[in-house]
Amino acid sequence: VIAEELKKIMEGEVETDEETLKKYSRDASLFEIKPEVVVYPKDTEDLKRIVRFVSAKKALLPEISLSARCGGSDMTGAPLTDSIVLDFTRHFNHIKEVGDKLALEGMSGGYAVVEPGVFYRDFEKETLKKGYLLPTFPASREICALGGMVANNSGGEKTLIYGKTIDYVKELKVILADGEEYELKPLNKSELQEKKQQNSFEGEIYRRLHGLIEKNYELIKKAKPNVPKNSAGYNLWDVWNGETFDLTKLFVGSQGTLGLITEIKFSLVKPKPYSGMLVVFLKDLSHLAEIVTTVVPFRPSSFESFDDNTFRLALKFWWGFFKLFAQNPFKLAFAFLPEFLMVFLHGLPKLVLLVEFEDDSEEFVLEKLKELRKELISKFKVHLRLAPSAAKAKKYWFIRRESFNLLRKRVKGLQTAPFIDDLVVKPEALQEFLPKLYTILNKYNFFYTIAGHVGDGNIHIIPLMKLADESERAKIKKAMDEVYDLVFKFGGSMTGEHNDGLIRGAYLKQMYGEKIYSLFEEVKKIFDPQNIFNPGKKIGVDLARALSQMKRS
Ligand SMILES: Cc1cc2nc3c(=O)[nH]c(=O)nc-3n(C[C@H](O)[C@H](O)[C@H](O)COP(=O)(O)OP(=O)(O)OC[C@H]3O[C@@H](n4cnc5c(N)ncnc54)[C@H](O)[C@@H]3O)c2cc1C
Repeated sequence: VIAEELKKIMEGEVETDEETLKKYSRDASLFEIKPEVVVYPKDTEDLKRIVRFVSAKKALLPEISLSARCGGSDMTGAPLTDSIVLDFTRHFNHIKEVGDKLALEGMSGGYAVVEPGVFYRDFEKETLKKGYLLPTFPASREICALGGMVANNSGGEKTLIYGKTIDYVKELKVILADGEEYELKPLNKSELQEKKQQNSFEGEIYRRLHGLIEKNYELIKKAKPNVPKNSAGYNLWDVWNGETFDLTKLFVGSQGTLGLITEIKFSLVKPKPYSGMLVVFLKDLSHLAEIVTTVVPFRPSSFESFDDNTFRLALKFWWGFFKLFAQNPFKLAFAFLPEFLMVFLHGLPKLVLLVEFEDDSEEFVLEKLKELRKELISKFKVHLRLAPSAAKAKKYWFIRRESFNLLRKRVKGLQTAPFIDDLVVKPEALQEFLPKLYTILNKYNFFYTIAGHVGDGNIHIIPLMKLADESERAKIKKAMDEVYDLVFKFGGSMTGEHNDGLIRGAYLKQMYGEKIYSLFEEVKKIFDPQNIFNPGKKIGVDLARALSQMKRS
């Protein structure tokens, strides 16, 4: 019935066939939730009509809602819904401008204006043509789109030096709960004052949100997690600094719960032409903290890791893996011969660290690599390998980038179970944190891989499980409780970049405390009083219900 009514009011397509509903029942998370209808809005006018339609229906149908979706590669269940899915990739997929700083005053580097449904892979081709890069691309760069990256505040292998997506979003266009489109950008005091004086929904948002932040200013600033990266909760701490009021900071990372993004203005950087990598093979974790604190001051552009299980799987499935992901699997397999030999002679390393430097000068990169190698050799007994160019480093990046995909595609009969997939502690705490974490994981007898951004203290743990098995599924909530208790004891965050979604949202109260959570609730009410946008994410997450909707295969 809803589908029929939607067809009457919108120009884009409305689909309810089984195949479409099945496809949109999944993302890359643990869950499977079938939507009632999938729609492909044609333009902003379509979106406005849809929002107004849902708003008018709410009183009669309290469960009706809108969940935005781009690439659908989310690992938390955030784009899943049993109501209406809005797919942005079919029509909102235009790159409107890619330009340089001359066109945009006060910005170093370039800029781009895009619609949210543009896939990152297509966007990068265009920005590189102009000599620019959005450096916050995630490992899912081939399957994710820009709207998803913004809504999740994604990060990736270059975040250590370049920051996260939030640092590159300069302006947003969004449709809010009143069905109107608004521009969000940093405002100075007098611009804020003007907004607050408006007698409109927009004016009310600025008045109430500014009031909320002013009233709880110290509390909010104190609540900001003291770790290098965080995507948990609403990013209230960066909205207002006494001089500038910037709603983009709140919208980025809000997982489609405050409104719909229709346009993004990004700043871009000039990629550095030269890079080189030092690969560090650790037999155990006994010196991890010292190694991390030795490496970080050298200011690498990336400091990544993967563990023995990732390595083991890459070796075990090497042919299928290389065939699946590499254009020339023979060449890649050949490139790994020294590593095969090393494993044969010395056994598998517990952790492999990838330290990459990039710069405009090749000499600078080589010098940095040499200095770091010297320092590490003088202090630690570690096995090192130098990959002094991007071409030589490619094979290591291959394992790191494809580690999650490797699991998803190759391990038969088992499913990847992302529920503790994005932990963050201070990097120097990893050495103490990891053995405690291993104790918990081993207690549940999980087979898991660890890969991540060691320089940011951000690790991705992906257990492999038989989700059809009731006793296996029952482990998930218990293990999550224990792992998140541990993370919070270390003052960490449960998500550095993947965000909260269905899987983690229920722990926000524990992470931030009752008061901050109640501010999050107020934020949601200010923007979305009828609970139209992606309900049950960020606020009011029902974990028991979500876990009952877990996929079985
Ligand atoms: C193999 C693999 C590796 C990954 N590696 C990383 C990584 O390195 N770093 C990282 O950060 N993440 C990673 N992820 C998670 C995920 O890919 C990223 O968060 C990605 O940016 C999501 O983009 P998407 O287009 O797929 O978003 P979707 O899954 O479609 O949606 C994500 C969220 O954005 C919201 N949204 C989408 N469009 C809009 C819109 N127009 N307006 C408002 N809200 C919207 C959705 O409602 C949802 O809440 C990985 C996932 C996989 C499967």
